[in-house]
Amino acid sequence: MTLSLSLSLSLSLCVCVCVCVCVWQVLLVFAKDDAQSNSFCWACERAGFRCNVARTPEAALESFQEKNHDLIIMDHRHSRYFDAEALCRYVYSTCVCVSVVTQRYVENSNMMSCYNELIQLHHGEIRAQIKLRACNAVFTALEQSQEAIEISSEDQIIQVHTHTHTHTHTHTKHKDRRKGSLDVRSTTSRGSDAGSSQRRHSSMARIHSMTIEAPITKVINIINAAQESSPMPVAEALDRVLEILRTTELYSPQLGTKEEDPHTNDLVGGLMTDGLRRLSGNEYILATKQLHHIPGHLTTPLSLNDIPPCIAQTMENEDSWDFDIFNLESATMKRPLTYLGLKIFSRFGVCEFLSCPEATLRSWLQIIEANYHSSNSYHNSTHAADVLHATAYFLCKERVKQSLDPIDEVAALIAATVHDVDHPGRTNSFLCNAGSELAILYNDTAVLESHHAALAFQITTRDDKCNIFKNMERNEYRTLRQAVIDMVLATEMTKHFEHVNKFVNSINKPLAALEENGSFVCVCAGKCILTAPENRILVKRMLIKCADISNPCRPLELCIEWAGRISEEYFAQTDEEKQQGLPVVMPVFDRNTCSIPKSQISFIDYFITDMFDAWDAFADLPNLMQHLDNNFKYWKSLDEKKLHSLRPPPE
Ligand code: 5GP
Ligand code: MN
Repeated sequence: MTLSLSLSLSLSLCVCVCVCVCVWQVLLVFAKDDAQSNSFCWACERAGFRCNVARTPEAALESFQEKNHDLIIMDHRHSRYFDAEALCRYVYSTCVCVSVVTQRYVENSNMMSCYNELIQLHHGEIRAQIKLRACNAVFTALEQSQEAIEISSEDQIIQVHTHTHTHTHTHTKHKDRRKGSLDVRSTTSRGSDAGSSQRRHSSMARIHSMTIEAPITKVINIINAAQESSPMPVAEALDRVLEILRTTELYSPQLGTKEEDPHTNDLVGGLMTDGLRRLSGNEYILATKQLHHIPGHLTTPLSLNDIPPCIAQTMENEDSWDFDIFNLESATMKRPLTYLGLKIFSRFGVCEFLSCPEATLRSWLQIIEANYHSSNSYHNSTHAADVLHATAYFLCKERVKQSLDPIDEVAALIAATVHDVDHPGRTNSFLCNAGSELAILYNDTAVLESHHAALAFQITTRDDKCNIFKNMERNEYRTLRQAVIDMVLATEMTKHFEHVNKFVNSINKPLAALEENGSFVCVCAGKCILTAPENRILVKRMLIKCADISNPCRPLELCIEWAGRISEEYFAQTDEEKQQGLPVVMPVFDRNTCSIPKSQISFIDYFITDMFDAWDAFADLPNLMQHLDNNFKYWKSLDEKKLHSLRPPPE
């Protein structure tokens, strides 16, 4: 679609869309039958739109007044037949609908091209534009109108009614459209209407100057153009591509309805959706409503120098992937996050970066840790400490260091620390089904992740004593805050495939292509790929996601412990769902019947393998891949023996 405005030469057609979209009625204004008009007729039929053809402007107006078409396609190629521009203007001036949009379509009588055009108009760009412009037009109307304005739904049910001076009601569905002159060349109405009509035109002009072309529209246009010069099989393949591109869920694999494996099904249902299941009326009250404060025994002064020796000792190898977080959990009496945080943050110079006293960092770690629920078997502060540990480990990988700035590193460490704060030990789906306060607050959308991020900043900034951001320069803070929020939100599993696919497409693939060449130029190009701001965002998201679900890549004993904990948390959720009569989100996680090996196999197959293949290709993590392989085989061997438990029974 070009937006060419050249009138004399243009082989263009005018497309005019009214905002009142119900069942689509299309009006073709063509003086003569030709390949172009025939193609549009065919395309309307294929798209299931109702189609009328008018040969003269007068016939067009008559037909339009009768049917209120949603889309008018005017032949703009031969001005000797009629002036399509004037006809357009006439439609604006008589149409009391909220908004009119025009587009130009360059002559192209290929049937698929016409069809794609119609479908795009119906689904895509125009609909979004209409919404935007409708707002603009409504405000203009409200501002300028002497009359009352009613906005009605498709079936004429009044949604909004405003009036200024008179009580003349004007329906958006242009029921009482002014009957103006049929002289389509006269653009302004006469008499007292002229002024308001002019104003309407000026606001229309403003509206028309807004062109919103989304990247996806550009992509579709490029493909359409390529189809023109392609042989049939290619054009047909591209048709299928277009079908896919028109969906919105481009990054989520579509599971067949008859998914074989119930474990995968449940995982996908439980982790990949929220709020899609029927809402239950039962009210779920979060276990802890008021914020935790720092427990007394932890307010004693504590700095890196006076960490008890037994704790310091368990943290000695914290820079190793095989570090045992459960040792630290018991040595610290379930406060691993504060201690490991102090050590890791000091290793990365976080206090120096933030210009923050160590005492503030300590108070911050303590209060964040206190807001994790130690009663959760999985989502407690040990999990946060584990994710912090993995994050710090990844940050030391050469490629990651090349890509990220110091502020990114600090953001990643903070994000890992807070990423599950105040987790209630229930999934998003559960909270949505239960109509919990959090689900209501966050509109069933990324409920937990939104809460973790928001609460983290509330806790931090509420009290100077623990405000690690207090001495930051405003813009630095804004950048850091943005990065932390983005990373915490990236842990939401509904977006899993989106994040992984974007990472692979924007980073792995271009880097691999460069590596195949291997010249000096490529080294520079590689650096560019790594440090481009949009790619750094993808690296950070991937980093925290991998850290978050890295359990299956830990040494076997740790992997088994995590599997036991997550299963227990899911079992507890299923118990509560049954007890409260809520929908059971993940029926396979029933403590009486669940096969933990099967659930781990599904989790690894569905979420872990591809993601860690990609992360390993980027960051080079052979030890993790070895553990993953080993652990997977372990679960397989249990499953082959039909065992449901975490471990084989003792001999
Ligand atoms: P988180 O809530 O920890 O930020 O996000 C990670 C998601 O992956 C959580 O929903 C968690 O329940 C899930 N998850 C992590 N590890 C496992 C696992 O080993 N098995 C299963 N089935 N889910 C897991
Ligand atoms: Mn987590």
